[in-house]
Amino acid sequence: MIMYDVIIVGSGPAGLTAAIYTSRAGLSTLVVAGTMWGGQLMLTKEVENFPGFENGILGPNLMETMRKQAERFGAELIFENATSVDFKSKPFKVTAGKVYEAKTVIIATGASAKWLGLESETRLRGRGVSVCATCDAPFFRDKKVVVVGGGDTAMEEAFVLSKVVSEVKVIHRRDKLRACKFLQEKAFANPKITFVWNSTVQEVLGKDRVEGVRLRNVVSGEESVLECDAVFLAIGHKPNTDIFKDQIELDQTGYIIAREGTRTNIEGVFVAGDVADNRYRQAIAAAGSGCKAALDAEKYLIGT
Ligand code: FAD
Ligand code: NAP
Repeated sequence: MIMYDVIIVGSGPAGLTAAIYTSRAGLSTLVVAGTMWGGQLMLTKEVENFPGFENGILGPNLMETMRKQAERFGAELIFENATSVDFKSKPFKVTAGKVYEAKTVIIATGASAKWLGLESETRLRGRGVSVCATCDAPFFRDKKVVVVGGGDTAMEEAFVLSKVVSEVKVIHRRDKLRACKFLQEKAFANPKITFVWNSTVQEVLGKDRVEGVRLRNVVSGEESVLECDAVFLAIGHKPNTDIFKDQIELDQTGYIIAREGTRTNIEGVFVAGDVADNRYRQAIAAAGSGCKAALDAEKYLIGT
C-alpha cells in the first residue's frame, strides 16, 4: 500500500488549490475527488468574480483548469467518494473503494446548498435560479427578483441584491422571520425589500429563463403568480461532514471547527473551504484556505 504524504478529500476550489500546493512542494498527494468532482462551480455557468479572468470564466472550465494544474505537478486523483475515515491512529486511513493511508489529511468536502426539490427549479438552475447573490446579482441589474427563506442568509442575500436590482420580494413560509432582530429591522427599513408571508414556491415559471413563480399561501391555500426575473434560494446549507462525525470536532450545525488557521482538533488533519466556513462561501475564499491548509500540512510534515 502506498503511504501518501497528503490525502485531500474533496476536489472543489479548496481541495484542488491544496493539491496544487502540496504536489508542487514535492509531497505525494492523493485527491479523493468524489464522484461529483469539481465542486459547486460545476453547477454554474459564468464565474465573474474569480480573480485572473477579466471576462469571467465558465465554472466547469475553471475547475478543469485547476485539476490539470494539480495533475501537472503530480497530484493523483481518484473519482470515488470517501465513505469512511480513521483519524484515531496514525497513519490516517481514508476508505474510498480501497483503503488509502497518509501522514496528513486535508478535508475539503464543501457544503451543499439546500434546494426546494422542484423539477422547474432544477431545469432553470443557472438561468435565473441561483443560490448565491454575491455570485449572480450583477446579472439581474434593475430587474425584479425574489429571495426564498427567512433566515439570516435570506436577509443578507436580499441586501446584496437590493444594491443592484429594482425590487426584492422575500418569500417566507411563515409570518415571522428566523433572522436575528438586527437583520430583520435592517430589511424592514430597506425600501427595495418587501415580504410575501406564509407562502411557498410551488413552481418556478419560464421556459428558458425565469419569468415568475407560482406561490401557494399556506394559510388560505390560494395560489398566485408573481412575475420576476430571478429566484434566489436561501433556505440553508448542509456541510458535507457525515463521514467525519465521530472522528473530528464539528460545531452544532455540522461544520468542522478550524482553529489557528486550518488546524482541526486532530493533529495532522487540516480543513479548507466551505466545509469549515458558513460565512464567506466564495470560491476564492475556499481556494485561499486550500493554500493555507497545504502550507500548514507541509509545515507539519517537516516537523514530524
Ligand atoms: P465545493 O466546491 O463544495 O467542493 C467540495 C467537493 O468535495 C465536491 O466536489 C464534493 O462532491 C466533494 N465531496 C464531498 N464529500 C465527499 C466525499 N465524501 N468524498 C469525496 N469527495 C467529496 N463562488 C464564487 O466565488 N463565485 C461564483 O460565481 C459562485 N457561483 C456559485 C454558483 C452556484 C450554483 C453555487 C452552488 C455556488 C457558487 N459559488 C460561487 C460558491 C462556490 O462555488 C463555493 O464557495 C466553493 O465551490 C467552495 O469550494 P470548496 O472547495 O470548499 O467546496
Ligand atoms: P437557517 O437559519 O436554517 O434559515 C433557513 C430559512 O429557510 C428559514 O427561515 C426556514 O424557514 C427556511 N426554509 C428552510 N427550508 C425551507 C423550505 N424547504 N422551503 C421554504 N423555506 C425553507 O439558515 P441560514 O439563514 O442559512 O443560516 C444558517 C446559520 O448561519 C444560522 O445560524 C445563521 O444565524 C447563521 N448566519 C449568520 C449570519 C450573520 O450573522 N450575519 C449570516 C448568515 C448566516 P423556517 O424559519 O420556517 O424554519
